[in-house]
Amino acid sequence: MDFIDLKKQYQAYKSDIDTRMQSVIDRAGFINGPEVAELEEALADYVGMPYAVGCASGTDALLLALLALGIGPGDEVIVPAFSFIATAEVIPSVGARPVFVDIDERTYTMDVQKAADAITDKTRAMIAVDLYGQCADYQALSTLAKARGIYLIEDAAQSFGAEQNGVKACAFGDIGCTSFFPAKPLGCFGDGGMVFTSREDLYKVMKALRVHGASGDKYAHEYIGLNSRLDTLQAAILLGKWPHFAGEVDLRQEKAAYYTGRLANFVTVPYLAPGNRSVYGQYSIRVQRRDELQSFLQQRGIPTAIHYPIPMHRQKAFLSYAPQGGCPVAEAVAQEIISLPMHPFLTEDEQNRVCEGIEAFYK
Ligand SMILES: *Cc1c(COP(=O)(O)O)cnc(C)c1O
Repeated sequence: MDFIDLKKQYQAYKSDIDTRMQSVIDRAGFINGPEVAELEEALADYVGMPYAVGCASGTDALLLALLALGIGPGDEVIVPAFSFIATAEVIPSVGARPVFVDIDERTYTMDVQKAADAITDKTRAMIAVDLYGQCADYQALSTLAKARGIYLIEDAAQSFGAEQNGVKACAFGDIGCTSFFPAKPLGCFGDGGMVFTSREDLYKVMKALRVHGASGDKYAHEYIGLNSRLDTLQAAILLGKWPHFAGEVDLRQEKAAYYTGRLANFVTVPYLAPGNRSVYGQYSIRVQRRDELQSFLQQRGIPTAIHYPIPMHRQKAFLSYAPQGGCPVAEAVAQEIISLPMHPFLTEDEQNRVCEGIEAFYK
């Protein structure tokens, strides 16, 4: 059993993906090929945002957002303490200070009250994370950001395809950022990412920033930028997968419902806030004796993963930014969270084996 079965997915969509890739190779048009713009249009349309810019990774998407918003030295950016490191890593990269706040006990997304309490006169932005594929509380976060005059960035690396009250992930805040890392809900065959915005000014800046700050003529540079293009081959692969994506999001609902139905009496299953449709980038449960459970399942050939064993404010790299009093919810969840195999090609037999393993452990 695979934690995420990308081989089965490739076999299922092989002809679509191969045709798209071959056409790039035949043309030898590897940089800024038409596939990039085609993908940007398709995804912007899906998300319901006017503008999209493909880039080299989800991390770079966040970096482009901070750069485009002009965040730098002296600024503070509020982030949840519990996420993949990239969410906060980009903040010191632009010279600003990450301010870690605790997460909500049930959704594991940023605690909005804690975020509000952390705002100072140096705060320029918040980065909310759609952890495990569920959107953060954007109604409250947008209201807060507007009231306090700060930017809101959505880290939707795990939630592409999710919805909140009918609005798609990546459409919240000033800039939505996603990742096409292979294990994400919409993954390519390497690294890739995209930013979404409704603001034309930010779109133009990010489009320039990804190619060394050049907005028009070649070798004329308006800003200090990056080399952060989305690879044309990766865009082609994503276009090959794209017709199947909506069906995959539906399949993820079925797989999640199966786990929840079988496991809700044994462990803490994912809690969905009202109005949310998760894409289950991860199906993560909260359990007692987590590490023992993980070895027990491993012995039965069931792969699991821990997202994440150390909250960000406890990482050595961030020790100088650790908040006083810590983030107790994030610290507790880091001890008890475990992710189960989750992908659209998971079979009922595999899910049954996962559930039997968990049942046997807690009996
Ligand atoms: C994966 C991930 C990223 C970074 O994406 P990459 O494409 O790997 O750079 C950022 N934030 C979160 C929450 C992620 O899960």
